[in-house]
Amino acid sequence: MMMSVEEVFTHIEKHRRELAEVCSQLIQRPSAHPEGRTAECVTYIQDYFDQLGIPHEVYRRNEEKPNIVVRVKGTGNKKIMWVGHLDVVPEGTPELWTHPPYGGEITEDGLIWGRGSSDMKGACAAAMVAARVLSALKEVPNSIDFWFTADEEVGGGDGALWLAQERLFDGDVCIIGDGSPGTPESPAIDLGCKGVAGARLRARGRTAHGSRPFLGDNALDKLLKVIPYVKQIADYPLEVPDELEATVAATIEYMMREEFDEDQQNALTRLFNYPSVTLNLLNGGVKTNVVPDYADAYFDIRLTPGSNPVKVRERISALVKAAGEPEVTVEFPRPSKTAGYYDSPNTPFARQLAEVVEKATGNQPIYKLLTGGTDAVRIKQFIDLPCLGFGSSIEAQAHSPNEHNSVELLDMSCKVYAAFPLIYKG
Ligand SMILES: [Zn+2]
Repeated sequence: MMMSVEEVFTHIEKHRRELAEVCSQLIQRPSAHPEGRTAECVTYIQDYFDQLGIPHEVYRRNEEKPNIVVRVKGTGNKKIMWVGHLDVVPEGTPELWTHPPYGGEITEDGLIWGRGSSDMKGACAAAMVAARVLSALKEVPNSIDFWFTADEEVGGGDGALWLAQERLFDGDVCIIGDGSPGTPESPAIDLGCKGVAGARLRARGRTAHGSRPFLGDNALDKLLKVIPYVKQIADYPLEVPDELEATVAATIEYMMREEFDEDQQNALTRLFNYPSVTLNLLNGGVKTNVVPDYADAYFDIRLTPGSNPVKVRERISALVKAAGEPEVTVEFPRPSKTAGYYDSPNTPFARQLAEVVEKATGNQPIYKLLTGGTDAVRIKQFIDLPCLGFGSSIEAQAHSPNEHNSVELLDMSCKVYAAFPLIYKG
């Protein structure tokens, strides 16, 4: 006899304390970059599942950065992949934390504190408890593999990038546990994320003594002249696919719930219909008394999924040319033909995931887009697999001091992760 979705939900509610405890234990095991070691977290996960007799496998290319997969076998031939990462960003300035960043403190108001609580050891805890609840069932119609990866915060290197490249990941559809799912009152599913399209300017000139600058040719001056031209790309309208128009509007509305001043609100309304551009690196000069003969600048440019990065690059090249500085050249370190990724909201996968979220929360989810990337970028790069996001992070907590999460969100995502394999029909 199969357990009903409602029975699974009741079962998970009894595990709320465990959800918080597992999240806390993961926070207490260091996995912060620059080292980004996941070994201690992986050992904890191994022990957790060994005690329950649930099978798992460790995959590693780097001794200190293992990945682990926990497999729940279904009776049917469909397989769902869940992917989350164990590595976290550094804690930043310790004085800004009122709760110790690696203490994993659980407070009476149902909050769990520490680096990674929201990004994304909370979702990993929810996935672990979901695997435990599913394994206790007599029958699960679909198989689900829960992957816990390394290196997500640094581009996937020994984690999702390697696992995807080596085809160690496999499944029919993928749920990404990274990102914010909103709240139980207004939940949200992520259809995809924006893409990175950086541009680098290089300016060349001629050195001279700083006391006789007229003998030289100042590369920094030329670079500074061209920089505002590149920034004009922020006014270039992007072509957003028709099927994403409602999602773009819903995403902006969702993001507007936070407090923003007028300038920030204006930037937000443009966030998906125009490229975002920010000058993030500037290099030049060797000595205070030498006219520089070289300078460069790097712009982080983000594009809406489905828009055309080739056209954006052509436009940037034209803008640089219009600046009239032949010794300033532009190059594009990531010349991809597509921007980010998204999956259509009109697939059975998207509808069935929405159905589960509605069952778990009583509220119909919206679809939204993420501004930053996840492991799905690497999965899409190597494996053609539909990826939808349902995370467990409190909005705007990722990477911030005093990062925290709530048992309420962990409970919600755990229900979704456990119930989806029960209802997925493909
Ligand atoms: Zn993350």
